[in-house]
Amino acid sequence: MYRAFLIKYAEIGLKGKNRYIFENALRDRVQAALDRIGRYHVVREQGRIFVECPEDSDYDETVEALQKVFGVSGICPVVVIDSMEWDDITGGVGAYVEEFYEEQNFTFKVEAKRASKQYPMTSPEICAEMGAYLLGRFPALRVDVHHPEVSIHVELRTKTYVYSKTIPGPCGMPVGTGGKAMLLLSGGIDSPVAGYMIAKRGVAVEATYFHAPPYTSERAKQKVVDLARIISDYTGPIRLHVVNFTDIQLSIYENCPHEELTIIMRRYMMRIAEHFAKKSDCLALVTGESIGQVASQTLQSLLATNAVCGLPVFRPLIGFDKQEIVTIAKKLKTFETSIEPYEDCCTIFVAKHPVTKPVLADIEKSEQLLAEKIDGLMETAIQTAELIRVG
Ligand code: ATP
Ligand code: MG
Repeated sequence: MYRAFLIKYAEIGLKGKNRYIFENALRDRVQAALDRIGRYHVVREQGRIFVECPEDSDYDETVEALQKVFGVSGICPVVVIDSMEWDDITGGVGAYVEEFYEEQNFTFKVEAKRASKQYPMTSPEICAEMGAYLLGRFPALRVDVHHPEVSIHVELRTKTYVYSKTIPGPCGMPVGTGGKAMLLLSGGIDSPVAGYMIAKRGVAVEATYFHAPPYTSERAKQKVVDLARIISDYTGPIRLHVVNFTDIQLSIYENCPHEELTIIMRRYMMRIAEHFAKKSDCLALVTGESIGQVASQTLQSLLATNAVCGLPVFRPLIGFDKQEIVTIAKKLKTFETSIEPYEDCCTIFVAKHPVTKPVLADIEKSEQLLAEKIDGLMETAIQTAELIRVG
């Protein structure tokens, strides 16, 4: 019965001339999300966003797609009555109340809007007459204009639009309104969640993945592509840079103290990710790190890793426990993919007893053992990186 949706959005950050930028971006993001499932028509009018569904649209599929668009705070399913005749309108609203509420015994109020002032009744008249009609048809209804359990919205344009229910949206800001960041995406549980969280604040996401063939398999790489694909439902299309990290890792393994392997490796990852970030106008790096989760995520380790970055590094999960991250990963449906048992490049070259409190000066000294060779290896890794477009 639903043929349209009204999109509600939070008013945060909507002051002055930023408002239309935000609204246009949200309209575009809603249209893009729905283009993936059908021929929907999305319009912005009178400070609202309105979705018209194609004849063959599926209600659940539509709601599910809209619930992945950041900036949407509420989704109101709208019934359209193909008439402007008052008897058709009251009959249609009555049928709506009958169909969508199991018991008609709630408190309510009618909210009316006319698109055209030509319509022979004013908005207060529409409210009063519609209220009286509903009270007559459903004797257990009661009017409460201050705190109604149900607000029945009736909008008269060239047709009549009726809605009263709001399905919660994901909130946040439309992706792209907050610039772009480079996500270091591994096949683990954390980094896809970090990408989702940064996108929620309106930041578009590009990604870099480091693999180490033949130590890591094609299947491990595919897993990362799959993860990028899942989060692209939220972030929009992702450009994924796949970097062959094998020679750099081997060089570190052969030349540096083994307890420092992970930190040094992470510093090279950051350097390379930053290279791609700057080339793509990203304003920050994003990782899935959280304090103390592993040896490379103590404050001392994070300091040592950060020291090579010029761009700010955002870590949306910094204060989260693993269980909290897992809960979000399950909600996003990345969890099942993340726990597939394919080897990661970090786990292969990992030391038995990694330093937990690295001293930056020591790490810098160890990196000198890589000598001039490392610059060439970095250059090759950058030159041979593969670009995969996901979503
Ligand atoms: P995740 O579940 O995200 O893999 P983790 O708990 O395994 O996290 P680490 O392996 O220490 O933690 O990695 C910390 C962060 O570094 C990751 O969240 C990710 O942002 C980045 N990272 C680690 N390995 C890679 C990789 N192979 N490619 C790209 N980024 C990586
Ligand atoms: Mg990992």
